[in-house]
Amino acid sequence: QRQQRIRNFSIVAHIDHGKSTLADRILELTDTVSKREMKDQLLDSMDLERERGITIKLNAVELHYRADDGQIYIFHLIDTPGHVDFSYEVSRSLAACEGAILVVDAAQGVEAQTVANVYLAIDDDLEIIPVINKIDLPSAQPEVVRQQIEDVIGIDAAGAVLASAKKGIGIKEILERIVHQVPAPDGDLEAPLKALIFDSIYDDYRGVVLSIRVVDGVVKPGDRIRLMNSQTEYEVTEVGVNSPKPLQRDYLMAGDVGYLTASIKDIKDTRVGDTVTSAVNPAANPLKGYREMNPMVFAGLYPTDNAKYNDLREALEKLKLNDAALEFEPETSQALGFGFRCGFLGLLHMDVVQERLEREFNMNLITTAPTVTYDVELAEGAHLKVANPSEMPDAARIKQINEPFVKATIMVPNDYVGAVMELCQRKRGKFITMNYLDDYRVNVIYQIPLAEIIYDFFDKLKSNTRGYASLDYELSASQPSDLVKIDILLNGEKIDALSFITHRQNAQQRGREITARLKAIIPRQNFEIPIQAAIGAKIIARTNIKAYRKDVTARIHTGDPDRRAKLLEKQKRGKKRMKAVGKVIVPQEAFMAVLKTD
Ligand code: GDP
Ligand code: MG
Repeated sequence: QRQQRIRNFSIVAHIDHGKSTLADRILELTDTVSKREMKDQLLDSMDLERERGITIKLNAVELHYRADDGQIYIFHLIDTPGHVDFSYEVSRSLAACEGAILVVDAAQGVEAQTVANVYLAIDDDLEIIPVINKIDLPSAQPEVVRQQIEDVIGIDAAGAVLASAKKGIGIKEILERIVHQVPAPDGDLEAPLKALIFDSIYDDYRGVVLSIRVVDGVVKPGDRIRLMNSQTEYEVTEVGVNSPKPLQRDYLMAGDVGYLTASIKDIKDTRVGDTVTSAVNPAANPLKGYREMNPMVFAGLYPTDNAKYNDLREALEKLKLNDAALEFEPETSQALGFGFRCGFLGLLHMDVVQERLEREFNMNLITTAPTVTYDVELAEGAHLKVANPSEMPDAARIKQINEPFVKATIMVPNDYVGAVMELCQRKRGKFITMNYLDDYRVNVIYQIPLAEIIYDFFDKLKSNTRGYASLDYELSASQPSDLVKIDILLNGEKIDALSFITHRQNAQQRGREITARLKAIIPRQNFEIPIQAAIGAKIIARTNIKAYRKDVTARIHTGDPDRRAKLLEKQKRGKKRMKAVGKVIVPQEAFMAVLKTD
């Protein structure tokens, strides 16, 4: 029976431990991709993923594997991202699987997202197959890592596969393990259709393409389906699998992972986590779905050209189909005009969204500095959520500001514990506890303001520990902090999009740093521009951008034609991501200036 030969599994790991490379080897060994078409990290199909060398999106492919028992098995492999910002992709992938390959780097050992991701899999009752990868490295310590997996994660690693995804060692063994250890799906073929939507993407021709895991029943072209949450009905036009190119199929049945199209043009009808059922013979209850994601950081996104506002809205709606964690709502800024306040899971997520909007939707954007959501208790007792610093009420109206904290778990070799604690302390962290994972590795736990984490905490953590520390964090309760809003004035005018919130202790210094940085970023113009930082009416820092001298421009304008063309070209490129704010031309970097701390 076909269902008995299906195996659905994910690959989970800390970033860079070799998931995508292992997926490559599996694609090769199963002849899913020909030698000629093979390239490194093949499943990272987005340009952005290839350039950055990271997986951003989950990716589901079907493979066929002839096992040692002579049978041909149907594998659905879902590669997942490792970065903490994309753990939502991981949890959705896992819900479509019965098993997970846990990849651990033999030289790096268990790291923060190894633990976070494998626990997601354990919570979903998945069968875990531990793989110790990169055993070809001279610094590999497979036996130490085996012990770590047992001590830190608490699963049996005696039978962990020793592998090198790079050299192709241990791959066959992994595939045999999948056959024998991962259970076949147990869905009921006769029951009414139930399929979980775990991803989607918008296609201009076919409408919304749904990635689904069929749990019960069968679905085929011509069937009337219903999306249970949105209560809308469609006729299926196509079903198929990615292998990794899309392959049309006659049907998908219980246990299958594939795609479905139904000329769904109204984007709002589809949501990941929704259940697809039959309109004729509907299931009684929807599947469990996913827990809603709460964005952690917020920023304003504005088109550099105000006329593109509607295009941006449409682009955000389409991107949201493929990025369920993205949230947005309209906002206006005096300085930047009409745009959207967008919510992200972290800075990398924000960066990826901005880049995808620019590349896939041809948008040209200004992004304001990311901020967290503050809970502001007003003097009269009411609470206000503030996710945009310019909306912070006047100090006189505020009784108390509560800021979000995270519980940060930092795994680090014990030589660097001091450095980590010093950093956490400097970032207003509150020490919670610390425990030894084994003889030389420590888990350090702190409560740290989320705002400090999103600035440059991760970079600092890496540089202070020579790259050895890894970080995982989850939101915990908000706590009162002594915070103030700093406004920035350009040419005497308050620029709402540059306002930011900081701890009172750091206000003076941040004010000085930021005015200095803005001075360096904003190009000279033909008049002098005062830059000021203020708390309420009180100026706490100031500097000036001098007007450019006449003779400098004269030289530019009388230069030889070649040089002049080059300069014009440069100017044109420079105009991209520039915005006239009042009389002053402000480049994109200015809005991010508050992000960096020295
Ligand atoms: P992912 O972030 O988990 O998907 O990791 P990648 O598959 O992108 O691999 C990260 C880096 O580790 C790449 O430079 C790979 O070439 C390298 N890598 C992956 N597997 C091995 C291995 O078995 N041995 C060695 N030496 N390098 C590997
Ligand atoms: Mg990857």
